[in-house]
Amino acid sequence: ELPCSIRSFSEAAGVSVGKVLGTMMQMGIGGVNINSQLDLEAAETLAAEMELSIELKAAETLENSLINELEEREDSAESLIARAPVVTFLGHVDHGKTSLLDYLIGINVVKGEAGGITQHIRAYEIDKDGRKVTFVDTPGHEAFTEMRARGANVTDIAVLVVAADDGVMPQTAEAISHAKAAEVPIVVALNKIDLEGVDENRILTQLTEHGLTPSEWGGEVEVVRTSATKGIGMDELLETLLTVAELNEYSANPDREALGVCLESAQEGDRGVSAKLIVQNGTLRVGDVIVCGNSYGRVRAMTDTLNNKPIAEAGPSTPVNVMGFDEAPGAGDRFHVLDDITKAREIAETRTHASSQESLSGSTTKISFDTFQER
Ligand code: GDP
Ligand code: MG
Repeated sequence: ELPCSIRSFSEAAGVSVGKVLGTMMQMGIGGVNINSQLDLEAAETLAAEMELSIELKAAETLENSLINELEEREDSAESLIARAPVVTFLGHVDHGKTSLLDYLIGINVVKGEAGGITQHIRAYEIDKDGRKVTFVDTPGHEAFTEMRARGANVTDIAVLVVAADDGVMPQTAEAISHAKAAEVPIVVALNKIDLEGVDENRILTQLTEHGLTPSEWGGEVEVVRTSATKGIGMDELLETLLTVAELNEYSANPDREALGVCLESAQEGDRGVSAKLIVQNGTLRVGDVIVCGNSYGRVRAMTDTLNNKPIAEAGPSTPVNVMGFDEAPGAGDRFHVLDDITKAREIAETRTHASSQESLSGSTTKISFDTFQER
């Protein structure tokens, strides 16, 4: 394993390369240069020798700079095409997030849920007269926040679901602050509008108090009346989302190596690991070499998330089930396509090593060599 170069060691520790090399000479280690790699033990010894109080968290490697390059690569204006918005449902439990998604895609997951609680992150792409929208339904906004905390911001638009009989509840308020922190546009679905005796004004007032002034009251937030069980307001909700998407001109470059996020994954017995990914840029293809968190592999098969039918490629904003990882990647792990399986394996191994070696010294200064993990 090659956790870090002398260059990144010196950068992280804030001492000159000359001083690092000089110290190594004194320690009897010759024949090294700025690009020589230190393993964690060597880095630790060296830090101790130089009386540097540092925490050797993870490795900055050639491979990681490869990942950084992929993350930072700018797509030329000509290469960009419009992509589907990725829409996440947020809101208080039982207000109808899963039911809305069920209605929109024409299935019924709610019925089958244990205790009516969503257990999995679902993601589907729907097609409305040739215009696509990708929907994500999460078990709770913890999943949304957790992914954001890990730098995996998959959401373009948040649909805040508020049940008309219940109004703004504690989890609704939390969802509002999460969506605001994510700086994504918010559309309100005022759901269960079919119920008797709902007081719309009360809810619009609550929303206003939480900083979401409805457009009908002169604010910026579209409030769409919906009923997931009766199918009311569904077209309007879709149209509103598509309008927000048009205004924001979400775009991506389909002609590059894919990158994106793992939503969830599972070890499926003999069939191996199945990972639900969402492509954020580029196009993912069967046969691609892929690395995601601590796992890597070659895409052996892909299926669409709705019918589980085989697909050969998945472009920007497409959710897809991927087979071929050596182990299950974590929810929120970013994935990258590389040109070389050896590199993918090295990156996965380095990361595995780094996560098992975390916090090596009881140090005061926290220095991470792994710029990627800080993203
Ligand atoms: P989630 O926890 O936000 O995903 O909520 P669910 O979609 O699981 O819905 C919770 C309950 O509310 C279920 O029993 C649904 O059938 C019911 N429900 C959802 N939408 C509506 C609606 O528009 N009207 C009525 N009357 N019930 C609804
Ligand atoms: Mg649900």
